[in-house]
Amino acid sequence: MERTLVLLKPDCVQRRLIGRVLARFEDKGLNLVAMKLMRVTPELAKRHYAEHVHKAWYPHLEAFITGGPLVAAVVEGPQAVRVVRDMVGATNGLDAAPGSIRGDFGSSQQMNLVHASDGPESAARELAIFFQEDEIHAYRPTIQPWLRAPDED
Ligand code: ADP
Ligand code: MG
Repeated sequence: MERTLVLLKPDCVQRRLIGRVLARFEDKGLNLVAMKLMRVTPELAKRHYAEHVHKAWYPHLEAFITGGPLVAAVVEGPQAVRVVRDMVGATNGLDAAPGSIRGDFGSSQQMNLVHASDGPESAARELAIFFQEDEIHAYRPTIQPWLRAPDED
């Protein structure tokens, strides 16, 4: 079982896509175990995007990600980091495969709707930036027996 950080970026909120994007994760059988609407500060943006802070385009990314409220969520499930990353799709919406979130809703490199952690180490680091441990609420969905066979758990 893995946990990954998902951010529904300010463009996702403004475009009224929160519900449709979250529904994809629910439909897949993943568990939403933490969620909040919040405003990212420049300081938080620099921590989260530490690997990009020195890039020429970082100021544009910071202006975008701090430019309106976003939804931060923790998504849990088997191999959730890779599964969610695949569901989100390639960075640029013009390259992202149809069927992926960015492929279906996006046409921008920067305004690409969703962030998803790119590996287990990133997920652990990013989760700790956005959530306290007591804000994460694990549960076993009642439909669990119909999501995966018993010998797969
Ligand atoms: P991903 O989110 O797919 O892991 P990256 O880690 O490469 O993508 O970049 C982080 C975020 O920065 C992207 O999701 C996008 O919002 C933004 N971004 C990426 N490349 C650019 C760029 N050339 N100019 C502006 N913003 C960018
Ligand atoms: Mg990345």
